[in-house]
Amino acid sequence: MAASSSVPTRSIRVLARPEVAALPVYNAGLSEDEVRQKYNASHISKLGSNENPYGPSPAALKQWENLTRQLFRYPDATASTLRHALAQATGTPADHIMLGNGSEQIIRLICEAYLSPGDRVVTVLPSFGLHVIWPEMMGARVDAVPITAEGQFDLPAMKRAVQAAPLKILMFSNPSNPVGCMMNATDMLELVACCPQDTLIVIDEAYYEYALGSPDYPDATKILPRQARPWLVLRTFSKAYALAGLRIGYALASDTSVIGTLNKVRDPFNTNMAAQDMALACLHDRTHMHDSVATTVAERARFMNELTRQGYAPVPSHTNFIFLDVGQNASALAERLLRHGVIIKPWREKGFETCLRVSVGLPADNDRFLRALSIETGQTDDSH
Ligand SMILES: *Cc1c(COP(=O)(O)O)cnc(C)c1O
Repeated sequence: MAASSSVPTRSIRVLARPEVAALPVYNAGLSEDEVRQKYNASHISKLGSNENPYGPSPAALKQWENLTRQLFRYPDATASTLRHALAQATGTPADHIMLGNGSEQIIRLICEAYLSPGDRVVTVLPSFGLHVIWPEMMGARVDAVPITAEGQFDLPAMKRAVQAAPLKILMFSNPSNPVGCMMNATDMLELVACCPQDTLIVIDEAYYEYALGSPDYPDATKILPRQARPWLVLRTFSKAYALAGLRIGYALASDTSVIGTLNKVRDPFNTNMAAQDMALACLHDRTHMHDSVATTVAERARFMNELTRQGYAPVPSHTNFIFLDVGQNASALAERLLRHGVIIKPWREKGFETCLRVSVGLPADNDRFLRALSIETGQTDDSH
């Protein structure tokens, strides 16, 4: 029989598990290069991915040179040095910590380790895409509880959702991506108390360092141990530490058994040597990170004021981004903003198609967004 040169696409597609065939494609946004080529733009304001434009600590950049001598070695499979440094920094024991190739990977590992078809997961709407996609990949049912009209967590509705029927995982980000709102300690304790005893609680604190300055922001690792339950708190070096390109995040867990379970499904060398070394150097020099967070928080206030001046009502944010209802299809608007070299993230979940999320970048980039927004929405802008 001749070697087959073309397999019909349909039969390739049906090879996939039905849960996978039905998954939406994650919207990771356009790269700078793609926008530069497609729109022939000279300057790109990349405000779609909540990156920290001030970059990582200079101490970490120095570490990069030492790294080249060790590249032939495998990385430390358990990231032992980094875990001990994180234990120091967080107060969570080193054997309750696991590193991931970005905290995105940890979300996936949690789903692979804990979810079977038919299991139920509760999150919020609008949601961080992977809090929905990875559970659905495993065949779980996801109930997403909408935020209130004011853009806050709807505590009564969330309490009802976690009480209804069996619940395997409660997972949401605090502060929320994409909304930027925050749940305080009292509400978090109340919500968790309503969950069945054996629900795994996952609080994604990707924006922890930005929220710390907000009064009432709860460090979930201090709140969750008050009840004897399995829990995970996720953090990352991608945002405030400005290492998004290296891919490294971590999980802090209630106990060694949760970490042991995740370690069974983890690729042995999931975090690379460069990521471990740079993360360690960043942890040892947090001054630069704190400075860039303070700068961003101050710039966020100016950015919010400008938006309010243009007639918008942005949701108060505890993060390095702003969620905004633009009163028209945000995907179409995002496409028009690209012609100005401005990348933002339009929301696509049902009911939120008129909303966009814009990162708080360098002041000049934020201004470029504000200008492009006022041109593309036909609003007069008297400052230019
Ligand atoms: C950015 C983000 C992540 C991803 O972090 P990585 O460590 O880069 O994978 C996870 N969760 C939320 C809510 C985020 O906003």
